[in-house]
Amino acid sequence: SDGESLPVWHTLKSEEVFSYHDTAAEGLSSEQVEQRLDRYGYNRLPEIKPPSALRRLLQQFHNVLIYVLLAAGIVTLLLGHLVDAGVIFGVVVVNAVIGFIQEGKAENALRAIKRMLSPQAMVIRSGHRTTIAADQLVPGDIVKLQSGDKVPADLRLFQSKNLQIQEAVLTGESVAVEKSQTPVSNDAVLGDRTCMAYSGTLVTYGQGTGIVVVTGGLTEIGRISTLVAGVEKITTPMLRQMDHFGRLLTLVILFFAGLTFLFGIGIRDYAAVEMFTAAVGLAVAAIPEGLPAIMTITLAIGVQRMARRNAIIRRLPAVETLGAVEIICSDKTGTLTCNEMTVRTIIIPGRRFQVGGEGYDLHGSFSLGDTETSPDDHPQLLNLLQAATLCNDASLEIGEGSFTLHGNPMEGALLVAGYKAGIQHEEELKLCPRTDLIPFESQHRFMATLHHSHSGGTWIFLKGAPEQVIGMCDLQRDGENSNAIDAGYWESEVERMAAEGQRVLAVAVKPAQSHQSELDFSDIDNELTLLGLFGLIDPPRQEAISAVARCQAAGIRVKMITGDHAATAKAIARQLNLKNCSHALTGGEIELQSDDQLRQQVREVDVYARVSPEHKLRLVELLQSEGAIIAMTGDGVNDAPALKRADVGIAMGQSGTEAAKEASEMVLADDNFASISHAVEEGRTVYDNLRKSILFILPTNGGEALVIIAAIIIGFHQLPLTPAQILWVNMITAVTLALALAFEPAESNVMQRPPRDPAESILSVMLIWRIVFVSVILMIGTFGLFLWDINRGGSIEHARTIAVNTLVMFEIFYLFNSRYITAPVLNRTGLFGNRYALVAIGLLILFQLAFTYLSPMQRLFGTTDIALSTWIVLVATASSVLFLVEAEKWLFRKRESQNKP
Ligand code: ATP
Repeated sequence: SDGESLPVWHTLKSEEVFSYHDTAAEGLSSEQVEQRLDRYGYNRLPEIKPPSALRRLLQQFHNVLIYVLLAAGIVTLLLGHLVDAGVIFGVVVVNAVIGFIQEGKAENALRAIKRMLSPQAMVIRSGHRTTIAADQLVPGDIVKLQSGDKVPADLRLFQSKNLQIQEAVLTGESVAVEKSQTPVSNDAVLGDRTCMAYSGTLVTYGQGTGIVVVTGGLTEIGRISTLVAGVEKITTPMLRQMDHFGRLLTLVILFFAGLTFLFGIGIRDYAAVEMFTAAVGLAVAAIPEGLPAIMTITLAIGVQRMARRNAIIRRLPAVETLGAVEIICSDKTGTLTCNEMTVRTIIIPGRRFQVGGEGYDLHGSFSLGDTETSPDDHPQLLNLLQAATLCNDASLEIGEGSFTLHGNPMEGALLVAGYKAGIQHEEELKLCPRTDLIPFESQHRFMATLHHSHSGGTWIFLKGAPEQVIGMCDLQRDGENSNAIDAGYWESEVERMAAEGQRVLAVAVKPAQSHQSELDFSDIDNELTLLGLFGLIDPPRQEAISAVARCQAAGIRVKMITGDHAATAKAIARQLNLKNCSHALTGGEIELQSDDQLRQQVREVDVYARVSPEHKLRLVELLQSEGAIIAMTGDGVNDAPALKRADVGIAMGQSGTEAAKEASEMVLADDNFASISHAVEEGRTVYDNLRKSILFILPTNGGEALVIIAAIIIGFHQLPLTPAQILWVNMITAVTLALALAFEPAESNVMQRPPRDPAESILSVMLIWRIVFVSVILMIGTFGLFLWDINRGGSIEHARTIAVNTLVMFEIFYLFNSRYITAPVLNRTGLFGNRYALVAIGLLILFQLAFTYLSPMQRLFGTTDIALSTWIVLVATASSVLFLVEAEKWLFRKRESQNKP
């Protein structure tokens, strides 16, 4: 409706848009912003209303297991067993409520984690460039775009430099569109409105600036979709596998219940009604009602733990994949290294300067050999520093003796080096303003700027990777003169610095015509003069060194993939103790080789240098074709394909572009390699805990089912456990004991064993064996004590009360076994290491006492008081499972170690 009265932005001149929104290139003032926020609201897309609480509750009933229970409840009711029917319905409701609450909690946790990823926008307000949350944008704001950004609102561009935007979300066209400032005709379709940048589209190249014309729901994306998807469904391939298994299990159970029913009436001459109750009991016993909820919770807890350790999961299946990762391909700068750069060496022809001072210190002296020297005595050095200061997109906010850096740390380090020689960025820019630039792109590895000085000179400065820049220069500056370049000299200096682990940059200059106001690639393809080289240090992160060691102990190969020079890369790899750092494969070499040639090398080589994003993609594909599970980091727009392709794409949260984040499964909040190893550890733990909860829950069902079957087979007319009692056990242990396993901390050896085989099914042979083994123990103990009590003259209520309590005691002891799948638990950490487990056991004992002795419970469940001496027999019997399973584990471990050479 409002849309009718808005102007047609793409037909207006930018001045008209400025005046329409009462704004200017310096941006809005803070009062204007405040007023407009009030008037237009936040720049957010309207969200899909989450399903109502009632609906979410009802969805809990939409489940085959529950259908079976409901049917059983209805028939039980028709048969006149009011109490049993009541309990069945009660359990169904309680189960739904628990699922509802837990799922709601899990979803909220995930939503909070998603919020940690809210996008940012670079704006100009009151004349200053700042970064704000994108939802704070208002019409009239001035937004700067650079490659990798996601456009945060609909913009009318008024400045652009080689700006290309991929608008597939709006147009379906995946080829990026070249943008400009000129208005287009009224009837231009969206893809042809080249002076506009639309919210949600991706900047793939270049830079630009625009005026926000509309925000939130009024943007084009807001109008077509008007809705952003809510939280994704909490599931992973493994949970789906288990879900599928659950459904299959239900069918099998129904089949067997039917068979038992027929067997009972046909062969054992039970009455149909009696036998039906037994069949219902069997079905109820065998169905693991609590399992799906426990698995969801385990997953959500894992995601939360990862977030606490700076690994933000964007797509849930990654939680699982992380546990199976075999190779991590990591960027170097900022991930493995600190990204706090310092200029250490400066080379001009014939001279090698050392620069003192560490990190964020603005003081540092220059020396030649061992003697200190004043930069003012070396005009050529000053020239080089001036060029590096001008050809620079970073800025320093100078405080007392220290500074805050805005922009790229490497460029910041150049500004700091200049500062140490008395060259101040802002002043230089005032004397010699910039009129145009060719921005840095990792494809060409340099940037260039055009400047017009007040004294009448016009200069192009260029800085970039030395191989690139040296190759572009014909001349070098020697004192006042320029002579032919001695490429050999420069190359050996580059090698020498790089071998020490320094990152090398070359800087060049070219005089230009004073009327030149735009900079193109054709302007820099000749007559460049090399001014000198910078060597920067960027030490490895201490945490990264230990994380690499942890990963390698965990059977995970770490590979470093960097845009940096091969010698620098190898030197850093050595400091990080990568497995194989004697050889580096460069992007150039990668290009020359066929897939087959390369495939032989990629397994072994751990250092990849001067690699561009296309090479990354090829490397991932080759490693995957060998069957490996790969995690790959990335930050730039062009990394997106490799991130998408990798099994776990990991984007940098701080330095990464929106494009990279969108393509990835996980985002590192701190850009730190160590966080990847933590995520792997948590991934393995989640997988372990999922297996543990399966291993714990299924034998309860197995044991109960076997008890019923045994009773029917021997023709016992009164079931040892009623359906209501069975449901009580299933529910009460699921919400206490099984839940404790979801909080189980990582086992001490998680990072000392090889990655799990991704093809292996979660229900391994070993797991199935354990489930059967424990089911049988539970059946023998429970049914045995039931028969023992009947034989000594106990009433059926009494014997059943004993049976239920035996079962629950078994569960308590078995919980300890389940804490570790194969490791022993008869030790301090094994018995006391999980305090949730101890609390859960305490709670469960209270529940059981209520179940046994409170008269309303006795009426509901048909229980009765039992004597203290009976409890002793019962606990003694139940403790057997602890020792039997520990013995089984011991045998298993012995066999494993014999199988190993
Ligand atoms: P990594 O892949 O390890 O994170 P990187 O991200 O620095 O390394 P690129 O960004 O592709 O890799 O940079 C490659 C090379 O381009 C650098 O080694 C440097 O020589 C040059 N370079 C990087 N940034 C700039 C810049 N702002 N101006 C000029 N040259 C640059």
